[in-house]
Amino acid sequence: MSTTKYIFVTGGVSSSLGKGIIAASLAKLLQARGYRVTIQKLDPYINVDPGTLNPYEHGECYVTDDGAETDLDLGHYERFLNVPTSQANNVTTGRIYQSVIEKERRGEFLGKTVQVIPHITNEIKERIQILGNSGDYDIVITEIGGTVGDIESLPYIESVRQLKWELGEHNSLVIHLTLIPYLSAAGELKTKPTQHSVKTLMESGIQADILVCRTEHELSDDLKHKLALFCNVEKEAVIQSIDASTIYDVPNMMLDEGLDTVALKKLDLNDAAEPNLDGWNQFLDRHKNPKGTVNIGLIGKYVELQDSYKSILESFIHAGAVNEVKVNVKSIHSEHLEASNVSEELKGLHGILVAPGFGERGIEGKIEAVRYAREHNLPFLGICLGMQMAVIEYARNILNLKGANSTEMDENTPHPVISLMEEQKHITDMGGTMRLGAWKCDLVADSIVGRIYEEEHIEERHRHRYEYNDAYRDDLEKAGLKATGINPETGLVEIVEIPEHPWFVGVQYHPEYKSTVASPHPLFVGFVNAAHKYAQL
Ligand code: GLN
Repeated sequence: MSTTKYIFVTGGVSSSLGKGIIAASLAKLLQARGYRVTIQKLDPYINVDPGTLNPYEHGECYVTDDGAETDLDLGHYERFLNVPTSQANNVTTGRIYQSVIEKERRGEFLGKTVQVIPHITNEIKERIQILGNSGDYDIVITEIGGTVGDIESLPYIESVRQLKWELGEHNSLVIHLTLIPYLSAAGELKTKPTQHSVKTLMESGIQADILVCRTEHELSDDLKHKLALFCNVEKEAVIQSIDASTIYDVPNMMLDEGLDTVALKKLDLNDAAEPNLDGWNQFLDRHKNPKGTVNIGLIGKYVELQDSYKSILESFIHAGAVNEVKVNVKSIHSEHLEASNVSEELKGLHGILVAPGFGERGIEGKIEAVRYAREHNLPFLGICLGMQMAVIEYARNILNLKGANSTEMDENTPHPVISLMEEQKHITDMGGTMRLGAWKCDLVADSIVGRIYEEEHIEERHRHRYEYNDAYRDDLEKAGLKATGINPETGLVEIVEIPEHPWFVGVQYHPEYKSTVASPHPLFVGFVNAAHKYAQL
């Protein structure tokens, strides 16, 4: 039997209460007390992974070092803990069923009828325990997506019930995150929805150990008492989680409420050492007391939904703190950008980030934005599709290659400066068929990236199909768009930059997946620094 302790986080009353942030904040506090902690997300949808989901559905798809396309909550986990996650940290119903069905086809169930209980639940329990059994963690926090009572969540809740029983006392606990709505007409906070959702959980055989209550107003002592009494939890286990101005405040708020101490007590773990949050608080202090402001334009096509570019926005927060500036990110829809309005739309900006993306919609606007940044010496960072657009812009407007494009947008382009590699051309499946996860890259020392990384060899995470077409490299380099990062295994160009420009960098990978509070990404730090300098011109 492993000695790992398990914390399960369920949600009630409403979705979007921020289970991921509560899980990450608790993990941060436990880590700050010296425990080795990881967080796992169980998603009750049938997609095998979120890779095929439109960002409008669940926000950004986050990518891990091992190439898993995952829920964006894993981004929060990494940003808070500064510990990489992996495929094992995100499990979906689709993946569970896929693996049970594969086992059935291989005859592994020896002629038995394959059922939700026990086969699906066994698979879920196994997936929950993979991280614990690795021996790398003292505590595994498992967040169960969705809201209790959902049909989809039932097998997960049943698995938690069984595991809780199997693990025995003090080895696991259940945190139920719930909403205490405020009825302004009555001027009152209401506990009834929470009572009901705790009861729903009990109908599935689970008694919540800790209640974390999302609220817009302070919970009075009386109200906490009432919640404790009616939900059958200790009073000190009723934790208030009041709306925060930044998610990075939540660990300290949970510390003040004693969430970590209550959890440690229930798990029979030592809570004597005070958590060391020095680094975290230094970051918060800089984040909250900026000495200047920079305006960055984020040019993308999913700008209506903030979650689509979650990791990019968070990376700017980390980089802003390092530079002691507030980064105002202005989202600009690439579909609305054209030659006639680009200077108006991009007025007042100190830097332009052209976002990742798929498909044709809005790409001409992105190309216009690149051209504007290049011609006006405006700091520019192109990420993935943004880098590809920078190559296309250069080919069209400097090399005069009319109709230059990516074969993703125009299969018959006369100048496929971005294209598929030969070995990719037969692939027809959409899921999991991209270049995914961490790839090595060698940097040219005398270049913008060479200077800001202060390293020659880096590893960055990818998520794309199309590549820089090496056939155009000579011409592009001669014309001034240098390849300053090369994949040592494949020779693929991963970074382009214009040395003549104050700060113009396009990267085929996604730096935003690796920026954390403890380790802000050098590219974002360098970009914000360049934008700050531009602002002071
Ligand atoms: N659509 C482009 C490709 O597949 C870029 C992908 C991205 O920006 N993540 O190569």
